[in-house]
Amino acid sequence: MKRYLNFINNTWTESTSGKWIEVINPSSGEAYGELTQSNNEDIDLAIKSARKAFEESWGQMSAKERGKRLKKFAETIRKYENELTQIEVADVGKPVTQARADAIACANYFEYYGEAADKVLGETIPFNEGYTVLTLREAHGVTGHIVPWNYPMQIIGRSVAAALAMGNTCVIKPAEIASLSALKLAEIAKEAGLPAGAINIVTGLGSEVGAYLSAHAGLNHISFTGSNLVGQQVQAAAAKNTIPVTLELGGKSPQIVFEDADLEKALPFLVKASIQNAGQTCSAGSRVLIHEAVYEKVTTKLKEAFSKLTVGAADKDLDIGPVVSHLQQSRIAEMVEHAKKSGIDVLFEGSLVDTPENGSYVKPLIFHNVPAEHPIAQEEVFGPVMSIIKFKDEKEAIDIANGTKYGLVAGVWTENGSRAMRVARKIEAGQIFINNYGAAGGIELPFGGVKSSGHGREKGLEALYAFSAVKTIAIKHD
Ligand code: NAP
Ligand code: MG
Repeated sequence: MKRYLNFINNTWTESTSGKWIEVINPSSGEAYGELTQSNNEDIDLAIKSARKAFEESWGQMSAKERGKRLKKFAETIRKYENELTQIEVADVGKPVTQARADAIACANYFEYYGEAADKVLGETIPFNEGYTVLTLREAHGVTGHIVPWNYPMQIIGRSVAAALAMGNTCVIKPAEIASLSALKLAEIAKEAGLPAGAINIVTGLGSEVGAYLSAHAGLNHISFTGSNLVGQQVQAAAAKNTIPVTLELGGKSPQIVFEDADLEKALPFLVKASIQNAGQTCSAGSRVLIHEAVYEKVTTKLKEAFSKLTVGAADKDLDIGPVVSHLQQSRIAEMVEHAKKSGIDVLFEGSLVDTPENGSYVKPLIFHNVPAEHPIAQEEVFGPVMSIIKFKDEKEAIDIANGTKYGLVAGVWTENGSRAMRVARKIEAGQIFINNYGAAGGIELPFGGVKSSGHGREKGLEALYAFSAVKTIAIKHD
């Protein structure tokens, strides 16, 4: 069975832990490799290597040169698009097309931030007589990146590319059940000419090396994407070192369908936003609010669309692959059972035909007439499960939309422009989509949450501000 080592200082590095984590293919349940279960020494080593690169190579390079290397990295990722796709199909259980989209997005992030690296400008500030004042945007130094399993390549692209563009160096702790693409990306970075220590990957358990990394005094910034609970722990750990934190946490994002919505346009988005990546998406738009006047019509169409969805092994490239693990499968089953037992109406439940026996498959499901406060409409399911809520007017729709602890993303479907803007302004979320959902993942668009969905922004130029600190220089020249 293949053993995967850490990638530190551009070198495959064996841990002293002597412990390994099984790599499992969620489509079949089969183990096909072993991943390093790192210890604290591995994190220390990675931080040391990142510090050296910050002080001696990557952190000292001109912005133009950094940009050039990041663009070369993007090009090299594209060269490995097929291999990266296959890695993610086997490791995360993503249907081929969705895995490929992640590899392409990852390359696009490095290209976008490579192009932006030398275009982040400081300012000159009019001030008292006899002074010239200017600002510089400087890198933080060594940055930590804790990544979840649902979109490993996209999330690495999102936070690591922006951090590197500003001259930071990176220590990455991928999720223990989805680390292989991160390791491959680090190897590709070396081939593309990133200096040793710019990107270091340490695999292992979140509760061990993740916690140790978050509390490490050698870090200057930490970017965490994952659950709310762990996000709080990471922020608390980082507070002890007084370092900035970006938290990209979960969501329970509403999509509001008004009575005048263009249903032909809306329908495919409503379905996709619930089932993409088997529903394991932080910005899943799986809380669908439908106006009572079109409730019957829309629910009938949604039922019809869900009944056509196909579920199966990731390499078959169907609509829905397995969820990432048996643990995730049982969490979903628990939430679904709880909702059924508490009397929530099932509008549609799919069936599993010919799915491999030991894979972790979940049937697509729609609950409807869901009371807005029920847990199935409040908590992330992270499976292909939609919850539909009926509303009677705009005010009620906004109240329901804002009535969870989260505030990540929202969709508004209406042909009334004034209403669309009114509602968009009132919804508490980091991104609002009017008559679309997700804007095809637009990496140029700032992304992040309010409330329990986190704080700080990634994507777009905003991320470059987060990965740098402003230095003001005041020159007195009389
Ligand atoms: P998670 O359990 O919070 O894990 C996320 C990462 O944190 C993993 O690398 C995990 O390592 C690590 N970790 C676990 N315990 C830790 C600790 N005590 N200290 C430091 N790190 C620790 O989340 P998940 O279940 O993998 O991911 C799903 C969640 O992420 C959902 O809530 C989803 O909405 C959210 N998410 C948000 C975004 C966004 O951009 N807003 C994107 C994707 C996902 P191990 O895997 O080894 O435990
Ligand atoms: Mg796996």
